[in-house]
Amino acid sequence: MPDVPPIPLAQLTTLRTGGMPDRMIEAHTTDELVDALRSAWADGAPLLVLGGGSNLLIGDEPFDGTVIRVRTSGIERLPSPRPGFERLRVQAGHDWEALVAYAVAEGLAGIEAMSGIPGTVGAAPVQNIGAYGQEIVQTLAEVELIDEHTGEVSTVPADELGLGFRTSVLKHHYGSVPERPGVILTVTLELEQVGHGERPVVGEQLRTALGLGPEASVSLAWVRDHVLDTRRRKGMVLDPEDPDTYSAGSFFQNAIVSPSFARTLPPECPRWPVAPDLDSVLVIPLAAYEGYVPPSASRESDVKVSAAWLIEHSGLRKGFKLPRSRASLSTKHALALTNRGDASADELAELARFIQGRVQSEFGLILQPEPVLVGVEL
Ligand SMILES: Cc1cc2nc3c(=O)[nH]c(=O)nc-3n(C[C@H](O)[C@H](O)[C@H](O)COP(=O)(O)OP(=O)(O)OC[C@H]3O[C@@H](n4cnc5c(N)ncnc54)[C@H](O)[C@@H]3O)c2cc1C
Repeated sequence: MPDVPPIPLAQLTTLRTGGMPDRMIEAHTTDELVDALRSAWADGAPLLVLGGGSNLLIGDEPFDGTVIRVRTSGIERLPSPRPGFERLRVQAGHDWEALVAYAVAEGLAGIEAMSGIPGTVGAAPVQNIGAYGQEIVQTLAEVELIDEHTGEVSTVPADELGLGFRTSVLKHHYGSVPERPGVILTVTLELEQVGHGERPVVGEQLRTALGLGPEASVSLAWVRDHVLDTRRRKGMVLDPEDPDTYSAGSFFQNAIVSPSFARTLPPECPRWPVAPDLDSVLVIPLAAYEGYVPPSASRESDVKVSAAWLIEHSGLRKGFKLPRSRASLSTKHALALTNRGDASADELAELARFIQGRVQSEFGLILQPEPVLVGVEL
């Protein structure tokens, strides 16, 4: 088993917190990863599967278990059953940003708006990563998954992963266990072969972020460069020189609320409709059909509201910190909690609780954390 000398998790997470684990394993091949997982599950000790550590808030107490670092890498090109498309099967430990750079250089479209998101490819479906209206659910074909209960490896189509807004059946949401515990070994994306020419930009959210009108035509590389510039201005591209990036990205999720609750919020609070689930298909037996199909019951769709707006309008400005704390809101982005230098996980959790409390007393809803919390509570 490829054991390595353990190092504190604070050195492996972008929020820079986390204690020393008992044991650390680095898996550089899929076989090593499968063996390490099966033996850790058989062992029964606490286990943390670690990618790039960019979506984790880990407590500073020693971690009484095994950390398996997913260090596999590699991209395999496969034909797609859809004309004009190509599949990429990517190892779980491959760097996401390197994958986006590769796809853009090869003229393959579908993930360019997600340039600059840190972390590994294997963790990307776990919370259905997304930015500027593009999400991995739009291009994900399937994953190879090892099931925690059976230890078996199988190919799971994307539509069985419950991919939704920053969620999937695999995610350890705060306060709950995943619906389908398992670890992704490879990810297969289906990308469109568009080449390097200029083409219209799909998606209003992306066009708005890039300052483009509906008629504009640009190349994939142009989109990637401008997304990276936009993200850097918000401290959303990892940069060792910029403490605003010592974060887990957005710490709180945009809240999904009922239309009636949304009406209680100030009209200036940005909001977006959430597509309602499709109605189930109504089947009328031919013998019972009387020439009339009843209209489907219409219901208002839920509403996604801006967590950043709620935070700023509860009186907490960018850069806010509690007295004597080494944790603060990013000076560039109200949704990012940042470590300003050796902040403990407790200091970050204290700031998160303070923000939740302010937003709740001002607007009546509790913001939910987006990162996975290990050994620390809000
Ligand atoms: C500056 C910054 C900007 C960010 N911007 C965005 C953004 O725009 N959009 C967005 O969606 N996210 C964003 N994030 C969050 C983060 O980058 C993503 O969630 C990313 O996919 C996490 O990958 P990781 O490898 O670092 O996962 P980790 O933090 O290592 O792990 C996260 C969770 O996934 C589990 N996990 C890891 N690998 C696997 C695997 N192979 N199989 C199953 N489970 C696994 C872990 O056990 C853990 O529970 C940002 C983070 C930072 C720091």
